[in-house]
Amino acid sequence: MAVGVLALQGSFNEHIAALRRIGVEGLEIRKPEQLSGVDALIIPGGESTTMAKLANYHNLFPALREFVNAGKPVWGTCAGLIFLANKAIGQKSGGQEFIGGLDCTVHRNFFGSQLQSFEANLAVPKLAQNEGGPDTFRAVFIRAPAVLEAGPDVEVLADYPVPSDKLSSLTPAVERKEENPAADAKVIVALRQGNILATAFHPELTSDARWHTFFLKMRKEGSHEKSSKNTSTSEL
Ligand code: GLN
Repeated sequence: MAVGVLALQGSFNEHIAALRRIGVEGLEIRKPEQLSGVDALIIPGGESTTMAKLANYHNLFPALREFVNAGKPVWGTCAGLIFLANKAIGQKSGGQEFIGGLDCTVHRNFFGSQLQSFEANLAVPKLAQNEGGPDTFRAVFIRAPAVLEAGPDVEVLADYPVPSDKLSSLTPAVERKEENPAADAKVIVALRQGNILATAFHPELTSDARWHTFFLKMRKEGSHEKSSKNTSTSEL
């Protein structure tokens, strides 16, 4: 079966190209019934409000929620992360419908606007452990969100220091870390909860395919997920 890529808006072509580079077919998903033809789904980056409007228009939300709840592997990148979070705050976060399922609070556009887009070497020990290669991943952040809080079943795969210009506008969730020196404040930028993988950055825009191969391994585990999805991800 092909891997589905939600193709309403955003960087779906780039994900399909990244999958092709590692010999995997990516199928564009635009209609609810197309989900039955795939056993894993990537929700790309883009603009989550627009994507949500289009998903609503195509009546995709019930089928998307069913897909996630069935324990099938789903990976959200950037706007896709926002789509999967149980709670979204920050700029223009009111009103729109998302899929949910990932037990976390995401702050939209946490790092700022397009002008504050950046690249950074992230330490991702799990990626190196599972997929080999360097200990760090060169991550591309574009109007990127960040996860401020995550539930007990969430495995943090990578975090990132809060930029100093963001310390003055910290949200309450981050303010609670005030007992720690501000310089230690960190936000989560890659996480996994059972069948759900989420990254605040765009691995499909780089030539390092390790996040895609990591996700494809989750797909192989997919058939076991339904029974284990509520168990700790550290077992997975
Ligand atoms: N900030 C965007 C949003 O809220 C996401 C940016 C991205 O996907 N590159 O939808």
